[in-house]
Amino acid sequence: MSTLIALDKASGASLGTVPAATPADVDAAVERAAAAQPAWAALTYNERAAVLRRAALELTNRAATLRELIVRETGSIPGKADYEIGAASGELLEAAALAARPIGEVRPSNHAGRFSLAERVPLGVVAAITPWNFPLVLGMRVIAPALALGNTVVLKPSPETPLSGGAMLADLFAAAGLPAGVFQVVQGGAEVGSRLVEHPATAMVHFTGSTTVGRSIAATAGGLLKKVSLELGGNNALVVLDDADLDQAAMIGAWSSFHYQGQTCITAGRHVVHAAVADAYVAALAGRAQAIEVGDPHTGAVGLGPMINERQHARAAELLASAVTAGATVVTGGPQDPPFFRPTVVTGVTPEMRLWREEIFAPIAPVLVVSDAEEAVKVVNDTEYGLVNSVLTADLRRGLSVARRLRGGMAHVNDATPQDEALAPFGGIGQSGLGGRSGGDDNLDEFTQRRWLTTTDLPVHYPY
Ligand code: NAD
Repeated sequence: MSTLIALDKASGASLGTVPAATPADVDAAVERAAAAQPAWAALTYNERAAVLRRAALELTNRAATLRELIVRETGSIPGKADYEIGAASGELLEAAALAARPIGEVRPSNHAGRFSLAERVPLGVVAAITPWNFPLVLGMRVIAPALALGNTVVLKPSPETPLSGGAMLADLFAAAGLPAGVFQVVQGGAEVGSRLVEHPATAMVHFTGSTTVGRSIAATAGGLLKKVSLELGGNNALVVLDDADLDQAAMIGAWSSFHYQGQTCITAGRHVVHAAVADAYVAALAGRAQAIEVGDPHTGAVGLGPMINERQHARAAELLASAVTAGATVVTGGPQDPPFFRPTVVTGVTPEMRLWREEIFAPIAPVLVVSDAEEAVKVVNDTEYGLVNSVLTADLRRGLSVARRLRGGMAHVNDATPQDEALAPFGGIGQSGLGGRSGGDDNLDEFTQRRWLTTTDLPVHYPY
């Protein structure tokens, strides 16, 4: 039996192993999920909600163990682990409330005597495929609402985070009393994910990860006429206008680009700064970058931990070097010995550079100077991605008018690009996603489908 090893990302130590799923294991998990689904959907909403509330309680009881696991397995500081635990608990509680939302509506009918109902019904088995960066909450964001609405779920976490992204979720739901087969985890890489996507009994694929993999999953799902939901990468911008409070702007800029080593889909990979404040902004941002300690978050009080693996470290170093070769200047930061990377500020960046055009996924803040808000909008919108952007200004009306012109599914005025809430419509457009949204009532559309149901008072009349 082959196994996956969960590694501490800073030290390289083993945190444990999990069995890797074979194709037969994947098939068996999907078949168990399909068999368990009708009985799970037939429970009362309150019975389903009760399991979700118990899972939230279990999560809180396990917070200390989980915190250490997330710190070590994802290489994050404890604050990010606490965020994940709190957000995952919020997802469970909001999903418990979602189970009690109306599941149908009466539609007007043109037929006399007809009662016309649009009923929401579960999809069936949902396949969830998740990335390594926020393994707990990105899994829960799918599992909790899908279960609340009567689906069963088979989850495939990233092989980088088999414990905090998979095994501990299985333990949690087992402890909460979820019936067997309703939620299962299959461990492995691309081949295990593909098998889940292709299995005829998975009704929907919910994928969170890179645009490249998302595109190939969408192609397969399209061929199979299977519902697919994609939460993909981003190349998000932070716009600093000439009237912005620069102290706030530097703090927001540092958080937007450096938090969790820049390894989130909602990281700001582009700083678009008005010329009137550019020098002062860069100096303040660089000052904040220099003050951040980098190291092992399990053993030291640091602000940034390790990159997830050497491949990501090498890619970030190469992107940075290619920008420097093309004329950019590193004001502060740069790669250290793998897996560490200092928070980095780069100026002299142009829109043609790969550092500007590609999703970086490292703690690098490239700065591009513009002469007015109009140019800022043009520069921000010159991307195929469309996840989130932020605008910083003293004038809220100006901020709103700029924010609403920026390409993306989400925009914030006077705050950082990384934002998420259980009730917010989270999602992107273009190469960042298919346009579906997770959060609040949007989850009803994600995880149910409509059935048109009518009754008619006899008699009806037809030609024959
Ligand atoms: P990835 O695309 O490499 O992998 C994501 C998941 O897909 C993993 O579980 C992986 O094993 C699996 N996978 C890989 N190839 C597959 C295939 N052919 N078939 C089925 N499954 C396959 O992404 P990653 O490196 O784990 O995560 C980083 C990426 O995720 C970034 O691009 C980031 O922007 C994106 N992301 C997006 C969001 C969002 O909500 N929009 C959130 C977090 C991360």
